[in-house]
Amino acid sequence: MSTSIDEIVQRVSGYWPGVDRENLVHAYDYAFRAHAGQERLSHEPYIIHPLEVSSILSQIESDPPAITAGLLHDVIEDSEITVDDVRGEFGNTVASLVDGVTKLGRLDFYTKQEEQARNLRKMFLAMAEDIRVIVIKLGDRLHNMRTLDYMPRDKQQLKAEETLNIFAPLSHRLGIWRFKWELEDLSLKFLEPEAYSEVARLVGVTREERERDIETARLMLVAKLEEAGVKAEVRGRAKHIYSIRQKMVQQGLNFDQIRDLAGLRVIVSDIGDCYAALGVVHGLWMPLTGEFSDYIAKPKANQYQSLHTKVLGPSGQPLEVQIRTREMHRTAEYGVAAHWRYKEGGQSDPGLDERIGWLRQLLELETDLSEGHEFIEALKIDLVTQEVFVWTPAGDVMELPAGSGPIDFAYRIHTEVGNHCIGAKVNGKLVPLTYKFKTGDIVEILTSPTAKPSRDWLNVIESSSAKAKVRKYLRERAREENIEAGHRELERHLERLRADQRAAIKPDHLESVARHLNYTDVNSLLAAIGYGVVEPDTVVDHLLAATYKPPSTLAEELERLLPGISASRATRAKPLSIAAAGVNGVHSRLSKCCNPLPGDVIVGYITRGGGLAVHRADCKNVLYRARGEPERVVALTWGEESQETTYQTELEIVALDRVGLIAHVTAVVAEMGINISEAAIDTIEQNLARLRFMVDIHRREDLQHLVDRLSQLIDVMSVRVLPGAR
Ligand code: MN
Repeated sequence: MSTSIDEIVQRVSGYWPGVDRENLVHAYDYAFRAHAGQERLSHEPYIIHPLEVSSILSQIESDPPAITAGLLHDVIEDSEITVDDVRGEFGNTVASLVDGVTKLGRLDFYTKQEEQARNLRKMFLAMAEDIRVIVIKLGDRLHNMRTLDYMPRDKQQLKAEETLNIFAPLSHRLGIWRFKWELEDLSLKFLEPEAYSEVARLVGVTREERERDIETARLMLVAKLEEAGVKAEVRGRAKHIYSIRQKMVQQGLNFDQIRDLAGLRVIVSDIGDCYAALGVVHGLWMPLTGEFSDYIAKPKANQYQSLHTKVLGPSGQPLEVQIRTREMHRTAEYGVAAHWRYKEGGQSDPGLDERIGWLRQLLELETDLSEGHEFIEALKIDLVTQEVFVWTPAGDVMELPAGSGPIDFAYRIHTEVGNHCIGAKVNGKLVPLTYKFKTGDIVEILTSPTAKPSRDWLNVIESSSAKAKVRKYLRERAREENIEAGHRELERHLERLRADQRAAIKPDHLESVARHLNYTDVNSLLAAIGYGVVEPDTVVDHLLAATYKPPSTLAEELERLLPGISASRATRAKPLSIAAAGVNGVHSRLSKCCNPLPGDVIVGYITRGGGLAVHRADCKNVLYRARGEPERVVALTWGEESQETTYQTELEIVALDRVGLIAHVTAVVAEMGINISEAAIDTIEQNLARLRFMVDIHRREDLQHLVDRLSQLIDVMSVRVLPGAR
């Protein structure tokens, strides 16, 4: 006879007073209709399964949304009903719980390898965004294990293995002792039927004697506790079959040699009474050394709290006694579920934050690593580091950093798979290499023998190991290409140099730069430029440094400091503002022969082409022409100055031929904001040089100032403005 919905509603109302009873009945009716006509392998109506799952969930006092979702957990999978239908009928929370359970249900967790099992458990945790999804899934599995007899033999094996590897450990991690021991016993029953029935038989045969001993001890303790005024409930406690079997296998013991088949459990109302009861126990029987653990002061990772002690019992055998409060007992039996009621105070759905808050507290607990390390790792992944879990086509789970995609996956399988990856199918569909995985994706990598890694991959890859492999590939396999690419890059940068700088660079310079930068030869350096670990500019700088030799003459210095200027005599047509009577809109230019500057007295000479050449009034050329063609010479005055207007003037500096002089001269000129458009040098006699600069002057005052400043330089003999005609 199976549980009825009324019994479940009764039980839930008992621990959750405000529960919406009608809604639970409604969920039952809804599921009943959805599964109408469906049967389990036992030929019972299907509805019995969700009903039993809800019943199991109510036994660990799950909250109403979890109970409701338990009733509805198979409707999406087994009927036409969609998540949206469930949402419309029962709201968001229930719908997302049902959806979560459905998704987990589509996964297979068959594996024997411990490494894989650990990843599977992590994936399970990561996929279930709500911890209640896992609890419902555990309830589902528990009922399926109870009814496993109807499955074919090979399926029984697989389900039992999966249960032992994944679901029982998860129950333990979530602290749900009630699920854990039963899942373990049921797994053993199907995996090792003989061993199971043998242990069960022996437990049965010895039960009477054992129970008598335990009852004797129990009554003694009850009396002493009463005497001491400690209010307590004392129960006998039996070890479950799987744990007896484990102990026999692991310690190589016979059944007869197992001493702690049963023990006592003392349940009191507060922590103070726990220690009081401990005192009574230790006063009554002799405690065995090294057998006391205080999990109240130092709870286990799954929040288990109790005092454990072993004493020499009345029958002369070791007797284990566990002491805990009622609340600790609830936590021990129901695990994570035990926390829902108290945090929510009744009605509302537990907020995700609070549940995560609980998990975080759990993470912060000081715990013994052997117990909690793995669980904590799993939770860290879920809550902190954001890993993504995907399936290989072979059904293995792969753990990758969040944001990973096909290339990360391919390299995790094998370097060669990564190197020849051209794309991937995710859940059967083609995806680009830039695709980012979601937990639960089934990934198949597509390769081609001609495919090879490209530099762009580095921008897409998330895992550092895959990045390292791509870099390694680019470094080694594509060496020739990298050398070429590096060569091109370097050439491109060298072209920006002046011709003389480029000419100075010789092949052995590059060799010494390579050695200086710790590369064995030029090709290695070029390859490094090619795959992007050496900046071409760095190499260029080193090359220039290698070719540099200080100037030995003033001429060399001039060449170095004012390159190109002396080589080309710039022609220019500066804007000019001239006011001339009767001359308007005429193209005018300043004549080269006398270089008139604003402030000079000027005249214009009308050329045969109709242009106007501006000369200083004292220019020999214009005086000569005025004599022959006076009608062509007109009087001019300077117009208003415009900012852009500059006038070329030639300076002559006579100085000692000493390296460093040019640097001083150019510094002075530059400081005044004056441009040098031409420069030339020649030697007048031993140690005496004549420098000529063409400078662009805005105003005559500037010119005078410049001459004064230059004259003050050390080793400068004379400075003068050259007369126009040369
Ligand atoms: Mn189910």
